[in-house]
Amino acid sequence: MSSRRQFISAAAALVGSAGLLAGCNKKEEAVVSASNSQEKINWKLVTSWPANFPGLGTSANRIAELITQLSGGRLTVKVFAAGELVGALEVFDAVSAGTAQMGHSGAYYWKGKSRAAQFFSSVPFGLTAQEMNAWLYYGDGMALWEEVYKPFGLIPNAGGNSGTQMGGWFNKEINSVADFKGLKMRMPGLGGEVIQRLGAIPVNLPGGEIFSALQSGAIDATEWVGPYNDLAFGLYKAAKNYYAPGWHEPGTVMECMISEKAFNALPADLQAIVKGAIRMVNHDMIAEFTMRNQKALHDLEKQHGVKVKFFPEEVMRELKKVSEAVLDEEAAKDPLSAKVWASQKAFRDSVTPWTDMAEGAIIRSRSSLIRPNARQCSSRSSCRVNGQPASCNAR
Ligand code: CA
Repeated sequence: MSSRRQFISAAAALVGSAGLLAGCNKKEEAVVSASNSQEKINWKLVTSWPANFPGLGTSANRIAELITQLSGGRLTVKVFAAGELVGALEVFDAVSAGTAQMGHSGAYYWKGKSRAAQFFSSVPFGLTAQEMNAWLYYGDGMALWEEVYKPFGLIPNAGGNSGTQMGGWFNKEINSVADFKGLKMRMPGLGGEVIQRLGAIPVNLPGGEIFSALQSGAIDATEWVGPYNDLAFGLYKAAKNYYAPGWHEPGTVMECMISEKAFNALPADLQAIVKGAIRMVNHDMIAEFTMRNQKALHDLEKQHGVKVKFFPEEVMRELKKVSEAVLDEEAAKDPLSAKVWASQKAFRDSVTPWTDMAEGAIIRSRSSLIRPNARQCSSRSSCRVNGQPASCNAR
């Protein structure tokens, strides 16, 4: 095949995928702009993560590499770690102002820009990764997120999901709600507001300061992400009680925002490549975290003597009750937050019976057969070991 024919078939494949992904019905226009645009486009992607930060920073790198490769180099995306071009918490402003064309971050950072943004990250007792994608892509989620970011000239996208996080590291056991009284715990956001109402003192510390604060006793407990990232931070050296589940972050979404102006200036096929690459990585991150978390959990328990425990049912009940009150109060503070939370909450409540029936049921059943001696803590009843009621801390 001649190189000319190879080029044409490659271009046709690109345009074909553009039509498929973007729902583009202007194929002829796309062909013209694709074949005419010899000009190379360079984009900057700013992130809130340290360079190559495991799982989060590496996913931003993956988005940039995919776009560059899929476009055959017509659109090259260069990643900037936090502090290289703008600070970690300046990503939103930088993309909004056009300093960068893309940003990889977490929507909960932008509560100060628009209160509703925090509902697109993860909320206490909210959606799992799978459920969040369902709400975003096939429910009202994406349209609502676009409405929230539109005034800032930004197009939001889900750019990865950490999956269910862990409840955190504690230097003492949590056996009752009373154990939260006076507990100094690193927990930002809505989760921090919840534990404060239980008598704890929430502390907001950047990732890099968590370990020394926990080791020195400046804090008594901390949440971070999950086994993979927590092991990398060495948190097991500072506290031995590792609690599940991450009630405050059941499925945390990373975001990949795009400058609306820069996006609209792209030909249709490059627009489809950008959107497609981000969506691919959104699904890829949860796969990576699942693989790495299970290995890290094993190592934490078997090699580092970490005691993995569940919060007692009484504690979970109280956390849920207070979380619901905090979320409703937060949503009532502005009309857009109220609209977003009403939609997400309605979906959470309607998807729960299905999740419980499908994945919930097979996981409970599988665990009881594969690990008959392990704790079986379900959301619906007390914990059991060998079919007998047991403490949630039994392992
Ligand atoms: Ca976290």
